[in-house]
Amino acid sequence: MRQHKLALCRDHYLDWIPEQTERFIKKYEMFQRDEKILVAVSGGKDSLSLWDILARLGYQADGLYIGLGIDEGIAYSSESQRLTETFARERGLKLHVVDVQREYGQPIPVLAQRSQRGQGRPCAVCGLAKRHVMNRIARDLGYNVLATGHNLDDEAAVLFGNTLQWAGEFLQRQSPVLPESPGLARKVKPLCRFYEREMAAYAILRGIEYIYEECPFAEGAPSIYYKELLNKLETDKPGSKLIFYLRFLEARSQGLFADPIPRAVALHPCPNCGQPTSNNDWCSFCKMIEKTKVAAE
Ligand code: SF4
Repeated sequence: MRQHKLALCRDHYLDWIPEQTERFIKKYEMFQRDEKILVAVSGGKDSLSLWDILARLGYQADGLYIGLGIDEGIAYSSESQRLTETFARERGLKLHVVDVQREYGQPIPVLAQRSQRGQGRPCAVCGLAKRHVMNRIARDLGYNVLATGHNLDDEAAVLFGNTLQWAGEFLQRQSPVLPESPGLARKVKPLCRFYEREMAAYAILRGIEYIYEECPFAEGAPSIYYKELLNKLETDKPGSKLIFYLRFLEARSQGLFADPIPRAVALHPCPNCGQPTSNNDWCSFCKMIEKTKVAAE
């Protein structure tokens, strides 16, 4: 790990990753030992590794898999679900599975087509659905905190995109911890300081079977292009990604991106599902589902 000027053998590496994770959990005050954690697992290396690490550290961590129904061309959803279920079964961990088609009528690609949200790309609908389901399950089943497997490469790419546009509101919201608010679970990213290849190495050394394929809809996403650019920078200047992210967190903690005149966003429960929304009527997710039903008629 050139950025840390550190080389470890297999056994020490497998100890180092959980030790560092525990350090980040404490440093950013993500959660306490007695809190119940819901880990959003996609079947990829990051989320399965996160679940593995939290279980090894002795946290009460259950998993949530959301079946998106993305099985065109490659069996992306069915294979990632199989791997996630196998992972949970082999380790005796509790997994909740929510199938979008079963619960909301159609898989993500069809919902995206019918809702016409996101100009033909399903990611906007998919992101909305995932946020809705994660928060619903966390809230309904009494979890204190929702943990996702975002790594440093993910965070640096989002940061790069937002910085290119000086998107102050999004910069202010990018954090290892988003505190809970009425009706919204706390969200944490315990792997946010690990490079993607560090997590891949962890998954391989731990013998975790994960899905190698990217979601077919990820192709052409700006975040992938930003990751490539940052990887080129990292090759010439090791540690650039980490410094970029850590210096940002410092600036953020000093209020550099805070709105000087904070606008109070009044949230109220959606009359249909009860989740908090700033819309005057139904939340964006319920409106989207309703629109897709009308489109099908
Ligand atoms: Fe969903 Fe887009 Fe991610 Fe695929 S790439 S899982 S459609 S957000």
